[in-house]
Amino acid sequence: MVLEGLGKSLRDVLERVAKSSQVDEELVKEISKELQRALLQADVNVQLVLEITNRIQERALNEKPPAGKSSRDHVIGIIKKEMVELLGTGKPLELKPQTIMMVGLYGQGKTTTTGKLALFLTKKNYSVGLIGADVYRPGALDQLQQLGLKIGVDVYGEPGNKNAAEIVKNGMKHFADKKIKIIDTSGRHALEQDLIQELIDIAEVAKPEERVLVLDSQVGQQAGPQADAFNKAVGVTGVILTKMDGTAKGGGALSAVARTKARIIFIGTGEHIRDLEAFNSDRFISRLLGMGDLASLVELAKDEIDDEAAMEQLAKNMMSGRFTLNDMYQQMAAVSKMGPLQKVMSMIPGFSNMEGKIDYEESQKKLYMFKVIMDSMTHEEKDDPNKIKGKRIDRIAKGAGVTTADVRGLLKQYHQSKKTLSAMSKDRKVRKQMMKQLGGMDMEGLQDLQ
Ligand code: GDP
Ligand code: MG
Repeated sequence: MVLEGLGKSLRDVLERVAKSSQVDEELVKEISKELQRALLQADVNVQLVLEITNRIQERALNEKPPAGKSSRDHVIGIIKKEMVELLGTGKPLELKPQTIMMVGLYGQGKTTTTGKLALFLTKKNYSVGLIGADVYRPGALDQLQQLGLKIGVDVYGEPGNKNAAEIVKNGMKHFADKKIKIIDTSGRHALEQDLIQELIDIAEVAKPEERVLVLDSQVGQQAGPQADAFNKAVGVTGVILTKMDGTAKGGGALSAVARTKARIIFIGTGEHIRDLEAFNSDRFISRLLGMGDLASLVELAKDEIDDEAAMEQLAKNMMSGRFTLNDMYQQMAAVSKMGPLQKVMSMIPGFSNMEGKIDYEESQKKLYMFKVIMDSMTHEEKDDPNKIKGKRIDRIAKGAGVTTADVRGLLKQYHQSKKTLSAMSKDRKVRKQMMKQLGGMDMEGLQDLQ
């Protein structure tokens, strides 16, 4: 999981607050020290760390909790809000026909992210054309074409032509009927004058609505000055921080870029083409703090389940307690399409802090076996799982090539899920929140823990 170290420290702090008998000066001082250590380890700037922890101390000791809220929960809310503030309020990329120009130094992840972004926008039903304008790195166009092939997106390039602006001009014409054009550009080892000129020339012919800076988050707080420099040189409209999966310094990079007032639109969370997440600091922090992130989960699911009505029906069934094996099947199919189980689980409230306690590979295998077993059942059996007894279990096991114990295991899991769901659906608050989010009315992430 992204920023697991920082997440763990923050969750420890929250747990400490939650378990304390009272919020007093000693506790606040201690948690403030722990927060400082955690944030410094994530490479957050010292000055910023002091500012945020001073503010947390001051607020925790002086602010009266609102009526009906305990001082413990109030402090937890303050910590969360201050953390969200630290990472800024990323404004999402607008979904509209447009031209996007990617800029950045060597090896930051421009080309990879160009492919990821193309896939993201294709899933939102936009036609996308990619223009390969990296005329420096040998093999750059090849890399982009491979990516395009993988995701079924057209790529325009002119091997041998060293004039980037000319390629872009022709590419824009070539893709006149595409709703969105994304331009991959050259990098350099440093922001040099000739790179700046090249980017300005390209921008002149393409007139991009977005000039997106791709930054490797491994540089930690150094990402701030880099964002500033690029902004001064070519006018950056948004930042994508890559390689958040491979560094402990991501918190430093995020906070430093947020400080420059640049808008962080996505984060790259892996080498795979799907590893791109729209950045929203509230959701990001919710997940990091173990509060889950239903909104992202629902969005992920919406992208994957073609039929939105089916998704809503599924949610309704889940919440109403009428939950059959057919529902479970659909749910599992959706989950496995959404990507690695680990990522999906981290978005479910209560599961995000299970890191290390779940064997994901084992779970993924089990999920697959369950699917195979359910494929050997009839629709009626799945609709009324109580029917599945005795001889039916034998038949299903044979059909699926598993043991009867495996089939019983699945039924047990089903009954457990059903029990959990019906408990959840009786909790009015949970239900209200689920329905609201599924209805798309409130996608702002989870509220503070009450
Ligand atoms: P460019 O020179 O800026 O175009 O960078 P590339 O797109 O060629 O990427 C450089 C390296 O970073 C490649 O090996 C990518 O696979 C890797 N990379 C890019 N984004 C991510 C990410 O979010 N996570 C990880 N782990 N690797 C990434
Ligand atoms: Mg490249």
